[in-house]
Amino acid sequence: MDEPIRLNIKLLEWYNREKRDLPWRHTQNPYPIWLSEVILQQTRVDQGLPYYHAFLNRYPTIRVLAAAPEQEVLKLWQGLGYYSRARNLLSTARQLTEDHGGNFPKTYEGLLSLKGIGPYTAAAIASFAFDLTYAVVDGNVNRVLARLFDVHTPVNSTAGKKEIQALADAQLDRTYPAQYNQAIMELGAVVCTPAKPNCPLCPIQDHCLAFANGTVEKLPVKLKGKKAVDRHMDYAVLETADHFILRKRTSKDIWQGLHDFEALEGFAEPNAAALYKHIKDTLPELEVVRKSAFPERTYLHILSHQRLHARFWRIRVSGEINEKSIYLSVPKSELSEVAVPRLVHKYFEEEELI
Ligand code: SF4
Repeated sequence: MDEPIRLNIKLLEWYNREKRDLPWRHTQNPYPIWLSEVILQQTRVDQGLPYYHAFLNRYPTIRVLAAAPEQEVLKLWQGLGYYSRARNLLSTARQLTEDHGGNFPKTYEGLLSLKGIGPYTAAAIASFAFDLTYAVVDGNVNRVLARLFDVHTPVNSTAGKKEIQALADAQLDRTYPAQYNQAIMELGAVVCTPAKPNCPLCPIQDHCLAFANGTVEKLPVKLKGKKAVDRHMDYAVLETADHFILRKRTSKDIWQGLHDFEALEGFAEPNAAALYKHIKDTLPELEVVRKSAFPERTYLHILSHQRLHARFWRIRVSGEINEKSIYLSVPKSELSEVAVPRLVHKYFEEEELI
């Protein structure tokens, strides 16, 4: 029997015996499949599961999701991070509703033409929902294939991506593409893990070149990513007697579409004078009526490429804000309804504001 066929049979048998029982594996409906794929990018299954159920409960169809306000979707996404995923989810749902009658196109090319759907997600939907023969390549598949074929080209380089994609395409099971894709991802998630892969229990160990050559621990090779940048932020938690004044993040920076507070950036040490000047310059319509000399809380918040050194200063003001499209005056009792980054949510909790 052909080597790849024997390998795939072993992989598929193992998958059918050992697979985790996950809700999106019981359906061929592309909507929940898509939802699970978007949620599981950069998120662990146990963390993503409650969000998957919450989204399907609130938005049972693409059309219902498409009609949702962005702030509501961001609020439901709160805590998952990488908020561009939530914004893309909504814009793709709107595109599907407007241009495709609320249905997914049934071809790989059609799926790929949707804004917010890249090659990985298109291959996942094409195979899981429509049984089309497209190989998925995510982080798990990269790792399994790099080890299986002892690939030392960095998997995140252009040459490495091509090499892995070619191996994935050649290895794909043409009869059971959906199960094969699930199986190889599952193997990467639970057996061929980044640290301490469980080679003794691996169903395809006999075929694994890295295992034979003793190079498992060295693979996959990756080019070093960008160095994390340090950012220093002084947050002005502006409050009146019964409202907080939040700021919508509109620029192409972190947390686009979410709310935080007006902030002064760039001072490694607390600088009260600079912060009060910043408030006066940015929001001259407000009068500061009670100043804090020091920030009440400071946090180090780690994002994928940034280390945020955030300080929160609680400052009493009076007056009405002019720029209502950016600043939001929120009654103190309604703070928990605003979509905020995890850092701000943590601050709210620790200050017992929600
Ligand atoms: Fe991964 Fe080890 Fe299996 Fe090779 S033998 S595929 S390194 S778990």
